[in-house]
Parts: sequence; structure tokens; C-alpha cells
Amino acid sequence: MTRRSQKQKKALLEKALLESEYRPFKDELAITSDGLLLKQNKIVIPKTLREKVVKLAHTEHQGIEKTKSLLRSKVWFPNMNKMVTAETNTCIPCQAATPKTSTNLIMSSELPPGPWENLDLDFGGPFPNGKYTLVVIDEYSRYPIVRIINNIKTEAVVYELKKNVHGIWLT
Ligand SMILES: [Zn+2]
Repeated sequence: MTRRSQKQKKALLEKALLESEYRPFKDELAITSDGLLLKQNKIVIPKTLREKVVKLAHTEHQGIEKTKSLLRSKVWFPNMNKMVTAETNTCIPCQAATPKTSTNLIMSSELPPGPWENLDLDFGGPFPNGKYTLVVIDEYSRYPIVRIINNIKTEAVVYELKKNVHGIWLT
């Protein structure tokens, strides 16, 4: 990439500020010598790439807040939070990973001893299709596993844990 002179940088910044959405932030915006628009130390994502960036940040289905903070740590664009909310609001795994939408909690005393002591179980739903999400989170790593289950009776949950989750922890 070619290095820009002060004059070129100034011109690029002025061009960016023609976009009305950037104007309220004009004091925080700057152009790097590579011609990149920055807001403080964060890269400003142009309109054409915003959807892609939000989708990328959302691939892990970590819920609204975690997706927002992941983005916030690296990039910025106007109404970023709104876009993340819209993207994750209709996503069942994300809803399940967001504590405030959970409806139930199995106490850890109901769990088997050993490695299970460090797991949190949580549910989301019921969803319009009558199913629930079972979310298992390792308390130390906060690593979530999400399964779709038909009901939240203890037997069904234990069955699902034995079948699909337990193996992951033992390997
Ligand atoms: Zn999601």
C-alpha cells in the first residue's frame, strides 16, 4: 500500500465526514497512513462490509452481549449494537446462550459428581416448535454446548447429557 501524505489523509477524512452518519463522531475519527478510517483505535467498517462482519462475529452463537463485545473490541460503525441485536434476536442458539432469556436452572447438586461439578445447565424455550434448548456451560472455560431437546424432564436431560455431551468432556 502506498503511504499517504498529510494532505491526502486530510482529504480522505473530509470525504468520510461527508457521510452524515460519521459526522457526530468527527472528533474521534482519523485516517491511518494506509488510508484506513479509524475511530480511536478501532477500524471503521464501511457500509458494504458491515453485514459480513456481524455475521462473522456471530458464527460462534455466543449470544447478543458476547457478540457485541467481540465486535466492540476490534471495530466500530454507527448503529453496530442495533445490527447485532437484529442478527442475534431471531437465533435460537444465541437466545439460549443469553442468560436473561433462560427459564430454568438445574441445581448442580442434581448433577453427577466428578467433572460434572463444574458445569452449568440451562434451558431456553419452549420455542414455537415446542422444543427447548439445553445449554451446558463449563464454568471454567465458559465453553457452551447447545442441544435441541423435546422436553426438559430430568430423564430427557440426563439422556442427552450421556449421549451427546459427556463424551466431549471425557475425550
Ligand atoms: Zn446465533
